[in-house]
Amino acid sequence: MHDVSQDFFGGVFSDKIEGGRAAAKISINSYGLVAETLEEERFEIPFGECQLDKGGASGRMIFCRNSDRSITLFCEERGFPKALETLSTGALSGQLRAIQLKQRGHEKTFLFWLTVGSVMTLIAGVIGYYALIAATQAAVAALPISIDENIGSVAIKSVDLHARLDAGHVATKLVNDIVKELEPHSAIKGLNFRVMVVDEPTVNAFALPGGQIVVYTGLIKKAKSAEQLAGVIAHEMAHATLRHGLKGVGQSLGIIAAIQLVTGDVGGLLALSTQLAQESILTSYSRKSETEADLEGARMLHEAGIDPKNMADFFQMLEKLEGDIPDLLAWISTHPQHADRIARIEDYQKQIPQKPYRLLELPWEEVQNQLAN
Ligand SMILES: [Zn+2]
Repeated sequence: MHDVSQDFFGGVFSDKIEGGRAAAKISINSYGLVAETLEEERFEIPFGECQLDKGGASGRMIFCRNSDRSITLFCEERGFPKALETLSTGALSGQLRAIQLKQRGHEKTFLFWLTVGSVMTLIAGVIGYYALIAATQAAVAALPISIDENIGSVAIKSVDLHARLDAGHVATKLVNDIVKELEPHSAIKGLNFRVMVVDEPTVNAFALPGGQIVVYTGLIKKAKSAEQLAGVIAHEMAHATLRHGLKGVGQSLGIIAAIQLVTGDVGGLLALSTQLAQESILTSYSRKSETEADLEGARMLHEAGIDPKNMADFFQMLEKLEGDIPDLLAWISTHPQHADRIARIEDYQKQIPQKPYRLLELPWEEVQNQLAN
């Protein structure tokens, strides 16, 4: 009768044992399950009485209870369910299937919560990231403008200004006059705008933190009017007044910089930003910053009585040129998405009240003639 049996390591719960539980050798024979403890106590549950369940910490523990629940045998070994199936000759098959299905349900629930947990962690991370950006931006707004000027004065050292035109040149005067038209309408007061015009064919212009504005004669030559040039300059001034350089440095340098900005310890930040103080980093802004600069520039133009459409017209003109002389169009490479930007400026114009715009009384032709020589 006991000729076919298999032994497993497991345990037994019973009030008859001191402490209520004991490790045991579990044998399955053709009659049922037998547990033998080290104390040589013996517990038997015939297949007909066995109530199976599955669980435990691993989820793999198989329990077998007798009908009055006075004895529970348990085993976690991998071959145990298979042996129960075989040796019970089908008597436990229904119950084994049922606990197997129950287990799958557990796994699904576990997977569900694992997914929920991962998503929550991801959301927390994203919130944290945006909180950091918001903190950086709020902190930037609280910082004195002298910080921008310090960063700008470090950055300008990496700009090649050897072909800079002097302050008395008509082109420098023209750009200065345009800045003076726009300055009363800038978002923050007290920014000391300084203009540098560089005599190089590059079609480019940029503003450094603190208000230094560099314009290349290549860009002045490509502009069709003083108003179009005013469009580009308004955009660049907006980068400075919206303090995009400082925000960019804060975000590039990450948490350390953000903490320094929040705590007001800017000494370290200044040292770090020296490493980033290159024209390319401080003048290539995020798409969000570019959109902000477009809209703020358009607002300044409108306030100054200059048609903001000139800005869109300049973008359109550059777009047409792009195929011809791509190497010279530095401004295009740092200011992509022309179609979107033109559309946004046009949308903005539909939202603001109409007013008569003026033309700038500036010696545009004279400047063009001087630069052509
Ligand atoms: Zn820009």
